[in-house]
Amino acid sequence: MEPEVKLLDENKRRLDGRAVDELRPIKIEAGVLNRADGSAYLEWGGNKVLAAVYGPREAHPRHRQDPARALVQCRYNMAAFSVSDRKRPGPDRRSVEISKVVSEALGHVVFKEQFPRTSVDVFIEVLQAEAGTRCAGLTAAAVAMADAGIPMRDLVVSCAAGKADGTLLLDLGKEEDNLGEADLPVAIVPRTGEIVLLQMDGHLTPEELEKSLKSAIDACHKIYEIQKDALRRRYAVTAEHEDTPPPPEAPKPEEVEAPEPVVPETQEGE
Ligand code: ADP
Repeated sequence: MEPEVKLLDENKRRLDGRAVDELRPIKIEAGVLNRADGSAYLEWGGNKVLAAVYGPREAHPRHRQDPARALVQCRYNMAAFSVSDRKRPGPDRRSVEISKVVSEALGHVVFKEQFPRTSVDVFIEVLQAEAGTRCAGLTAAAVAMADAGIPMRDLVVSCAAGKADGTLLLDLGKEEDNLGEADLPVAIVPRTGEIVLLQMDGHLTPEELEKSLKSAIDACHKIYEIQKDALRRRYAVTAEHEDTPPPPEAPKPEEVEAPEPVVPETQEGE
């Protein structure tokens, strides 16, 4: 059936003006929360996501502890105000599923054996949703984990590809996700090329699947650079703070003019 909304114009430009293989703009900032061990804020097109990480810390409840390794536990949540109709607060099937696949993807890169009986707790809060929030959340969470200093083999980075209006598209927007034919979120460990998340909603032919997978993986490598840049900026800021000279009201001792010594006037004949 022809969709009522034309998702591509005659020049194959998308509703938001992007080319078929173009990502939405992405911004990441690491270390945005003071109370968590690590954190990151990410904007990806209309998505706004906060990720906070604690741990490794003693796992609770105790019966869930693994004597051989750390648990990596993620909770993905969409704020009630993240979508245009108020979303019913609390976990639903979708958020339980996303929490599970994200936990597994992040668990692949953590050196879990080094921290038996502990848990790495990852919280993803979607403040504003516009399709692709699991990719956005996972990408932000990996930066927050690095910010928390969790020993990891590499970051995890995620991006979706898919199909709408009969055309393969990178990084589906909201209408493309809702009205399109397929959505293929992918996450990789960029250094090794391992795929740590692969889901598919809709239908693609084997050739389309292969092409979409390649396009999502290529995009992941670009997003990896943005993640690393966020972490570099975070540490540059920390280093800058360490080098900050004392404030002007506290001049260095050598700059302080020594006061004139007060020589008591000697009385003649003393
Ligand atoms: P993802 O966000 O990873 O693409 P989905 O494909 O399940 O996951 O969701 C696509 C988009 O649909 C979300 O990003 C969000 O914009 C919207 N959406 C999801 N759940 C709801 C909801 N309960 N109410 C309104 N919009 C929703």
